[in-house]
Amino acid sequence: MLRFAPTPNGPLHLGHALSVLANAHMAERLNRPLQLRMEDIDATRCRPEYEDEILADIDWLGVDWQPPLRRQSTRFPRYRAALQALDARGLVYRSFATRREIAFHARNVGLARDPDGAPRFAGDAAVIGGAEAKRRRESGAPSAWRLHMARAVQAVGRPGWIEIGPDGASRTPAAFDPAAWGDVVLARKETPTSYHLAVVVDDADDGITHVVRGADLVAATAVHRVLQALLGLPEPLYHHHGLILGADGRKLSKSNGALSLGAMRAAGWTADAIRREAVARAVPPEPLPPSP
Ligand code: GLU
Repeated sequence: MLRFAPTPNGPLHLGHALSVLANAHMAERLNRPLQLRMEDIDATRCRPEYEDEILADIDWLGVDWQPPLRRQSTRFPRYRAALQALDARGLVYRSFATRREIAFHARNVGLARDPDGAPRFAGDAAVIGGAEAKRRRESGAPSAWRLHMARAVQAVGRPGWIEIGPDGASRTPAAFDPAAWGDVVLARKETPTSYHLAVVVDDADDGITHVVRGADLVAATAVHRVLQALLGLPEPLYHHHGLILGADGRKLSKSNGALSLGAMRAAGWTADAIRREAVARAVPPEPLPPSP
């Protein structure tokens, strides 16, 4: 079972086309169904119109998927249960430092960065002080939930994964150090889950055996493997495909000039031409770090 999991906070572009086509190709080679899951946990940015446009684009590209359409926004109780299971084992904690405070602290003290370039967080004490964190806890201030990464690694080690080739044939052990992420956010006040928590719960609930997604998520896979091990969830195989880059050399996005698939269609692109263009422009991923 495979899944394509777009976030309906904007239209799809060529990078998404590559990802859905890589999924469809793998599903066909392995003779397994492909599911479609809307990663719509962020209610402030996700819109039904984008969802409709995504469905139309996937249809136009000729990709078949197995209904029903799944939506993360219908699964908050599942994510809460997973968070509670981690809480019962002392593996998560409430964190009161705000994003602004963390950014300020990172600028002034110089925090190490996580693989996404955000400040690597290792507890409120360093940022706002233990006394202030305690005061906020007692006053019922809003908080995020974070994974206690050091305890998590102590409990399950640094689980690697099996990286498969584009046709699902070759298998290579791969690993990335999850500690490089620090104490990742698993839930926020306004969004009672995070990408990391939701994706591992969903992949398990939906019986996903093969995860096909962009190479920008290689490092995140280490976090997902830790959460799967902590929650006793099955381990999928992973394939991280190459990325299409924008004019600035970064992953293609709206901000570096990506046209939506709808705009490309209106400009006369055929689905076949999109397919060829996506494959031709994909930059192969860096070789994966070897498994320790
Ligand atoms: N929604 C994620 C994205 O748009 C995909 C995450 C995944 O496939 O695990 O990048």
